[in-house]
Amino acid sequence: MSHSPTIGSDSGPVEVVLDGMAIGRGIAIGPLYRHDAESLSVPEYKIASGRISAERQRFSDAVERASHQVAELKEKARLLGGSAGEELGYLLDAYRHMLHGSRLVRGVRTRIETDRINAEAALQQEINTIVHSFEAMEDAYLAARVTDIRDVGRRLLRNLTSETPYRPFSSLPKGAVILADELTPADTALLDPKHVAGVATVLGGAESHTAIMARSLGFPAVLGVADLMKAARPGAIAIVDGGQGRVIIDPTPETIVLYRRKRAEFLRARRSLSRLRDVPAVTRDGAQLLLQANIELPTEVDTALAAGAEGIGLFRSEFLFMNRDDVPGEDEQVAMMRGVVERMGGRPVTIRTLDVGGDKLARGLGITPGPNPALGLRAVRLSLARPELLDIQLAAILRVSLIGPVRILVPMVASADEIRAVKAALLRARDTLLARGIDLPNELPPLGVMIEVPAAAVAADALAWHADFFSIGTNDLVQYTLAIDRGDEAVAALYNPLHPAVLRMIRMTADAAQQARIPVGVCGEIAGDPRFTALLMGLGIRDLSMSSSNIPVVKQRIRGLAVVDATRMARLVLKQTDPVQIARLLDKT
Ligand code: PEP
Ligand code: MG
Repeated sequence: MSHSPTIGSDSGPVEVVLDGMAIGRGIAIGPLYRHDAESLSVPEYKIASGRISAERQRFSDAVERASHQVAELKEKARLLGGSAGEELGYLLDAYRHMLHGSRLVRGVRTRIETDRINAEAALQQEINTIVHSFEAMEDAYLAARVTDIRDVGRRLLRNLTSETPYRPFSSLPKGAVILADELTPADTALLDPKHVAGVATVLGGAESHTAIMARSLGFPAVLGVADLMKAARPGAIAIVDGGQGRVIIDPTPETIVLYRRKRAEFLRARRSLSRLRDVPAVTRDGAQLLLQANIELPTEVDTALAAGAEGIGLFRSEFLFMNRDDVPGEDEQVAMMRGVVERMGGRPVTIRTLDVGGDKLARGLGITPGPNPALGLRAVRLSLARPELLDIQLAAILRVSLIGPVRILVPMVASADEIRAVKAALLRARDTLLARGIDLPNELPPLGVMIEVPAAAVAADALAWHADFFSIGTNDLVQYTLAIDRGDEAVAALYNPLHPAVLRMIRMTADAAQQARIPVGVCGEIAGDPRFTALLMGLGIRDLSMSSSNIPVVKQRIRGLAVVDATRMARLVLKQTDPVQIARLLDKT
């Protein structure tokens, strides 16, 4: 990762060029938005004139609470003693002052009344105005006060927003480029492609769920950019080149022109690929592959269809549980899944049961991550430990199976007992629904197993007895086989799906599926990377599920390949033990 201020000038800011991991293709150019981990969301809405005094009271209550909090802190500072305690005491006095009749507090009250907006929005606007005027004065004393005002403001905001659900990114400028230390998968799910042009972060690996989500939403994205936040100056223009893995802050006019041209070229290429939407994914020697989409949110279905997805190969249902404080009930889950199944219009939809845990958290479930979340109570383990969750989810899936072809996929299975237990729960859910008088199809939906734990790959033949299909989750399979955290940028360079151990496991799984005559596909990120297409085909895979944005490039690749060549290459690759040689063989096909 390089950090090189490139061009300077006496008057303006200096262009900063930073490199990281290329995650989502495309180029974003837009106003820089800093998402600081502790920054709070600012809900903004208009209030009716009859609500003004109640809103002012709500703000007064927040001020009152802040004032108590500061008094308590002052007490602690006193106990601290010494010059540090004294200094902190002065600071807290200044804070207390600010909370009583200061310009800040008066300004917020006035805004609530005159602009008829909620207290949080009024507070944010008032802070921005004061900070702006202080910054314009270029006075060291006032500059220090800016930090104090922001601190007090944050405290008040926290007091106000603790009553309302957490909603970050509600006040983004249009076309914003978001720069953050870290974005959680739940944060990323909240990003609206209509407002966000691109994202870059300091933390996160290429196969983290944040990266996956960014790809799904089609954002140009770069992760693992060291020093990003040092250079992230609010108000600057930022460029994110997701194909090259580069972030540029305060670009010179020449750089902006260059990247606008690159962006136009990228969009042209994408338009030309979109012409492949309705042509089949057939190789030169006539083998037909199935290309499906991975989705996290029901809203992604339209993008999947536009990209030519022949089905949803992986619906990560856990995203329905994120960004809320409660757990969706059966009817709500039915409503969300029904939208997907209906819009797919008879194409298959594979719904994965809850896969929370690891880096995917859902507040409403009240789970405290264990000492090693990747190896803890996640995915099917959690579903079996909390059968009430699984029962509701299975009931909801069964109900939507009446609308269109649905398959059920179980994540993180390591042993046959787990899939047997899920099957038993499925039968129970069916009986309960029938007893409730609910109509169901005669046949149960196919029940599949994700092969993403080495134990499952090595014992795939045993699992095949109990599974109707396999879906290989290479993201986790690589993580667990190589003991490389998929979300940790510090070891990202070691994360290698071409490791012979991984390839052998894919082969073993494909062989076991073939013997048991059950379908097998790949739904990890490599399914959407055209560099791996020939190898996966050569290993016997005919069913690939990926982020929608990758479907056209993978299809183009397939149409240029022949199964005979791919099979020959895969045979050579499997004889190799050196990942570098393997990569070379891949590049030659
Ligand atoms: C995988 O592990 O490859 C997979 C597809 O599931 P997820 O990325 O959601 O863990
Ligand atoms: Mg997985």
